[in-house]
Amino acid sequence: MLKDLLDGYIVQKDVLSYYNANISYKLLPMGINGFVFNYKGINNIIINNTISYYKQRKTLLHELAHYRT
Ligand SMILES: [Zn+2]
Repeated sequence: MLKDLLDGYIVQKDVLSYYNANISYKLLPMGINGFVFNYKGINNIIINNTISYYKQRKTLLHELAHYRT
């Protein structure tokens, strides 16, 4: 799934709907790039909004990698 995203066969929203996931960009303490939690069947991905765009993308991939199906 993530390889398909990286290879350009699918787009981010396909991955998010596959994992029933939402992304929010929030002010998080320095050193915390992001985290995931499940609430009522929805996977929530929180990304630090103070880190660079590149780091946000990298963090998003890291958090998506927590999901395995
Ligand atoms: Zn993580």
